[in-house]
Amino acid sequence: MSQNTPIVQAFERLQQTFQLGKTRTYAWRKSQLEALQRLLTENEQAFCNALAEDLGKSQSEAFTTEIGFLLSDIKHTKKHLKQWMKPVRVSTPIVAQPGRSFIQPEPLGTVLIIGAWNYPVQLSLAPYIAALAAGNCALLKPSELSPASSALMASLVPRYLDGDAISVIEGGKEEAAELLTLPFDHIFYTGGDRVGKIVMQAAANHLTPVTLELGGKSPCIIDSETDLAVSARRVVWGKWTNAGQTCIAPDYLLVERSVTREFLLLLEQEIARQFGTQPLTSKDYGRIVNRTHFDRLRGYLQQQNVVMGGQVDESSLRIAPTVVLNPDIDSPVMQEEIFGPVMPLLEVSSVQEAFDFVKRRPKPLAAYLFSHRQSVQQQIVGEVSAGSICINDVMMFMANPELPFGGTGFSGMGRYHGKFGFDTFSHHKSVMKRSFWFDVAIRYAPSSARKRYLLKKLL
Ligand code: NAD
Repeated sequence: MSQNTPIVQAFERLQQTFQLGKTRTYAWRKSQLEALQRLLTENEQAFCNALAEDLGKSQSEAFTTEIGFLLSDIKHTKKHLKQWMKPVRVSTPIVAQPGRSFIQPEPLGTVLIIGAWNYPVQLSLAPYIAALAAGNCALLKPSELSPASSALMASLVPRYLDGDAISVIEGGKEEAAELLTLPFDHIFYTGGDRVGKIVMQAAANHLTPVTLELGGKSPCIIDSETDLAVSARRVVWGKWTNAGQTCIAPDYLLVERSVTREFLLLLEQEIARQFGTQPLTSKDYGRIVNRTHFDRLRGYLQQQNVVMGGQVDESSLRIAPTVVLNPDIDSPVMQEEIFGPVMPLLEVSSVQEAFDFVKRRPKPLAAYLFSHRQSVQQQIVGEVSAGSICINDVMMFMANPELPFGGTGFSGMGRYHGKFGFDTFSHHKSVMKRSFWFDVAIRYAPSSARKRYLLKKLL
């Protein structure tokens, strides 16, 4: 920390505030959550406009997946915060009697949150909610790829929240790199695995713990014994919301061969029902974030059997909902996370073959199964390792704050949402309180055979 740059100044201001202790109180945490609630409700339209500018999101999508999501997260957090902050009493073994033991959650200190661009408001402010609820000072760096949302948060946060404890630094790689040189007490990063590795390496210099909310290829298995029409409707919603730029969107389908034709037809009907027959001009269909990602996604279609969609509009950066049938497993569309509106459909001869396929690959952020069969439902829960599993739907686990959200293996480490977010941004300090009354002497020197005998009995 040699230079006194604006980033270093912001960091030091937060550190000093944390030392004063004001962020530890329930009153401060509650006031900040309420301020964030006001920030969102009083500026709902401005957020919708920014999200439309960054990603072409419709008003409804902006509210459901970003602003409404955050408001319900704040409501849940406010409702339970007092309880979460309480020490948890645990039992004390006989060797430490008389005594009492408890676990006291305490804030970590000054934390860094690095946001991603696909849900630029939700993915920046949901970790903020958890960090503030846990009593930390927090510095947010939103993604530079969603500039309108980033600018809006940077202008609103200081107007509503406690500027001594909370700060927003806008910028890209350079600013992120400078932030990563600072000794934060925790880094919460959302984005791809390439930058995730950079974040983790930088954090190691200060032994800073990290939460990495990454992505991966989330599979979606369609059993022949399922309600194909409802499955198709839910898959269309999950895959093509935000034009597929969702970390937990189904990345590819594994469909039992006997129902492929019927399922494809249902997908087509459902796409028309949700986005019309000209999705490229639908007000409910988002655009690709920038030209680089647009070109990357268009590249996935080369030399593939495109059986649905495939139309693109360069001027508006839109790519229609697209299905690619049985792509080569070694082609980029099956090797990389798609993160866009292209859906590979691989035919399998059985659900078992689908499970084997998934288990041979890196652990995904989410795994989906549509099936009536209890045995198959049990099998995915018991055998498939993934951040989250959802049976007979996609992405809906996000709506339950009682469920942790986070990856495993290559899809990330750590978790948040509800109490899990509070815990991520807290240290669970163990406390033991002894009494002066009654001091068993067996642990003190000089040792003796009798003391050893008693210790063996007690431990
Ligand atoms: P991105 O490019 O917006 O990067 C994320 C953040 O990292 C940004 O704030 C960016 O400024 C910063 N960054 C970029 N280069 C950096 C560098 N060299 N050093 C330090 N910081 C740097 O996001 P992305 O990687 O394009 O996001 C897409 C990925 O994120 C996908 O893999 C997706 O699955 C994943 N994702 C995961 C979640 C989740 O909650 N698990 C949510 C959204 C996206």
